[in-house]
Amino acid sequence: MSRSVIQDFIAPDHDHVTCIDDALLRAETLCRERGERLTPLRRQILQLVWTSHLPIKAYDLLDMLSDGRKRAAPPTVYRTLDFLREAGLIHRLESLNAYIGCARPEKRHSAQFLICTHCGAVAEMDDVSLSNKISVTARGLGFTVSEEKIEVAGRCRDCQAVPATG
Ligand SMILES: [Zn+2]
Ligand SMILES: [Zn+2]
Ligand SMILES: [Zn+2]
Repeated sequence: MSRSVIQDFIAPDHDHVTCIDDALLRAETLCRERGERLTPLRRQILQLVWTSHLPIKAYDLLDMLSDGRKRAAPPTVYRTLDFLREAGLIHRLESLNAYIGCARPEKRHSAQFLICTHCGAVAEMDDVSLSNKISVTARGLGFTVSEEKIEVAGRCRDCQAVPATG
């Protein structure tokens, strides 16, 4: 996998348990190193975001956290999502208003996503040359980039064989 790829499109039949275990382990290590706490709720929500490699919406997380008797408090959940996002453990996809786990939270990177409009699969890139180009052009306009987010719509490998309609 190219260095500028953080997460490729993933085959549905892969061993996803390993992905979840790996994500939680990385999160624990990263929080420990930064002197942060991966509280049970933070861990639980991170695990839910990692349910699959598909983006997940906040209200779906709220549903999953509610067990019938007790409804999860939305502000608490949103605060937790903010923490996970700021820690780089998850990303927010603005165009979908949804969250996705990051496979490389230790590495500071810009957020460049390829989003399949057919199956919803997402790949994450960290193309430094692209980021540099944006910074240079922005600087030429007297603009300082604080956060770069690129979301590109299209079709993943598997969906290219599927007709566009239907
Ligand atoms: Zn997986
Ligand atoms: Zn990432
Ligand atoms: Zn697709």
